[in-house]
Amino acid sequence: MSPEPSDAAVVPQAPAQPCPPIGDDAVEVMYHELEARLHELRPKEDLTPLADAYRFAAAQHTGQKRASGEPYMIHPLQVTRLLLEMNLDMTCLQTGLLHDVVEDTSVSVEQIRKMFGEDVARCVDGVTKLTKLDFASREVRQAESVRKMLLAMVDDIRVILVKLADRTHNMRTLGCLSPEKQARIAQETIDIYAPIAHRLGMGKIRAELEDLSFQYLEPEAAEELNRELEGTRASNEAFLKEIKHLIEVKLAREGIPAHLEIRVKRPFSVFLKLRRQKIVLDQVYDLLAVRIITDSVKNCYAALGVIHNEWRPIPGRIKDFIAIPRPNMYQSLHTSVMGPRGRHFEIQIRTEEMHRIAEEGIAAHWKYKEGKGGAADDDQRITWLRQLVEWQRDMRDAGEFMSTLKVDLYPEEVYTFTPQGKVIVLPRGATPIDFAYSIHSAVGNTCTGAKVNGRIVPLKYGLRNGDVVEILTQAGHMPSKDWLGIVKTPRARNKIKHVINTTERAKAIEIGEKYLEREARRLGVSLGKISDAQMVAVAEDYGCSKIEDLHAALGYGKFSPRQVLQKLAPDVVEPEQAEPAVEETPRVPYSPDDTKDLVIKVKGADDLLTYRAKCCDPIRGEPIVGYVTRGKGIAVHSVNCTNVQNLMYEVERKIEVEWARQVQETFQVKLVVRTEDRPGMLSQITTALFQEQTNIHTLETRPADAPSAEGALISMTLEVKDKRQLERVISAIRRISGIRDIERVHEG
Ligand code: MN
Repeated sequence: MSPEPSDAAVVPQAPAQPCPPIGDDAVEVMYHELEARLHELRPKEDLTPLADAYRFAAAQHTGQKRASGEPYMIHPLQVTRLLLEMNLDMTCLQTGLLHDVVEDTSVSVEQIRKMFGEDVARCVDGVTKLTKLDFASREVRQAESVRKMLLAMVDDIRVILVKLADRTHNMRTLGCLSPEKQARIAQETIDIYAPIAHRLGMGKIRAELEDLSFQYLEPEAAEELNRELEGTRASNEAFLKEIKHLIEVKLAREGIPAHLEIRVKRPFSVFLKLRRQKIVLDQVYDLLAVRIITDSVKNCYAALGVIHNEWRPIPGRIKDFIAIPRPNMYQSLHTSVMGPRGRHFEIQIRTEEMHRIAEEGIAAHWKYKEGKGGAADDDQRITWLRQLVEWQRDMRDAGEFMSTLKVDLYPEEVYTFTPQGKVIVLPRGATPIDFAYSIHSAVGNTCTGAKVNGRIVPLKYGLRNGDVVEILTQAGHMPSKDWLGIVKTPRARNKIKHVINTTERAKAIEIGEKYLEREARRLGVSLGKISDAQMVAVAEDYGCSKIEDLHAALGYGKFSPRQVLQKLAPDVVEPEQAEPAVEETPRVPYSPDDTKDLVIKVKGADDLLTYRAKCCDPIRGEPIVGYVTRGKGIAVHSVNCTNVQNLMYEVERKIEVEWARQVQETFQVKLVVRTEDRPGMLSQITTALFQEQTNIHTLETRPADAPSAEGALISMTLEVKDKRQLERVISAIRRISGIRDIERVHEG
């Protein structure tokens, strides 16, 4: 197995191939090669920091061996070599050399900080934390949470770059491990690390990680596919060379500068496509591809014209990722055409810059530059991270989360674990009580304390990323009202309120019943002679369906026992002078001519009239809750509506509602966009809306309201299908340059 990192496409390694042992002197040789390469790439760079990190790491790892029997130091050196080939800065290189020192030797992060400074210490610490997480024990369906958590735990994006290089080298040398370990590490690579590389736009690393994992995870499929691809390799390559030449000639004739690359689709991509689309190799349109790299966006489109003029494009295969970049900022024009002799192939057209971004992704922004990167670099990184975050979720304020190197990709969430390793995602500031309720309401209700990372913490402790939380419970324990002031999740809040209300209701029933009995004795009514049916009939007069409810209402003091007794025994009890108004019956039957809000269903009942509350106008996909109004049916609010927080103290009026299925309808939402005042802004917005297939109901522009403020306000009413469409629209608008702020507004 070649220890050299290579720029060429990875040749899949046969699994379980033994690695040749390398001796201690090989370590020194390898270091000198690293140094020489650094000097070759950046003649002006000072080599001392590299040498210092190497000497220190080598001394610490002395005597340690890898599974292959090689000296351990080979690994950090190869990782650093990968980082150098990505042309990353000295902090990354030093971190590469030192990345396993804290994990595998007695050195502390503090020592690293003293010797190599804050940045290196932070990065080494970050890599160590990621290494300690054992993702493999976690369920695959949690992979997305784990990926997010991993990104959330990182406060310097270089940690991820080093970790990916670490993983790449480990995958390249996986052959020395046992089959079980190979499968476990390959699975983790494909579930966690390859998607992160993809998300960060690092196409080359992602491809290598996927292809290597594939060899270990699906050895039979991989071997068969390799054989199939190998069988057609010669003819495929000849065909691609022919095409390449034809295109070069045509582009030169049109005066379009370009250099061309040819490729056969990677085995893993082919495998996924075959499986997903249930097709055979011949039907893969983009098995063969030519990449045209030119100098400008204009020439990208010009080249596309030249191609389509020559060969017939296959309908539905033209994709313009230049006008609409992928969320990881990938840009290219793609088309598939029917080439000579009826053979189809794909063409990707992009500029040099787009190519660099596609291959290196976020690493492109961390490249070493002579004389250190200036402000422009930071701006680029911020832009990148902003894109990244917007892809993940619709954040309200993306501007605040990054200060120079520090990033907090998910400032609104915290990722914690159960002792069994299940990831529990909670809002920032959540407490062990929230954690307990997110496991089960019974755990929450009986929670008496909590241990975080093995230590007892107060119940109001704010959970942090990576915390392992163990909840202490005691049977029969009841939640306290004080918890309402501590918890952060609606779930915990509702459950606590529910328990408190249930307890209070039980008390009210007891009190009400006694109260009624006492009054009956005082007024000379014999309750024993009154039948249950009579009692129920009177209860219904008061809007209660059960005797118990009537008792509760008496206990809460909603009406007096005397009133009730008067109805039960009118000949015995004198009526009171003024009878207070009876509570309106909350249930309003559904009237068939009001079909407006059939889109919302009350759980367990189809006949209740619902309407969307004006204060928050919930749209499909948003979590909703119903509130029984007096006489108007069920008001449906968004769970996040501030009115709900107040209303829901009257728990008995709360009712579960859900979005009814299979109703195609649209919801009107009102957005206000704050923009720079420049020509073309409106048309860019309408184009974005058009691309998201969103109907515009109204749209108006006016100057910003405050006299001191510059810019313009655009208000619009849109028709959207659901929350997801709205989110897409919002992030599309946000991507337009010059947009300052966008807000959803409500009328009520
Ligand atoms: Mn390592």
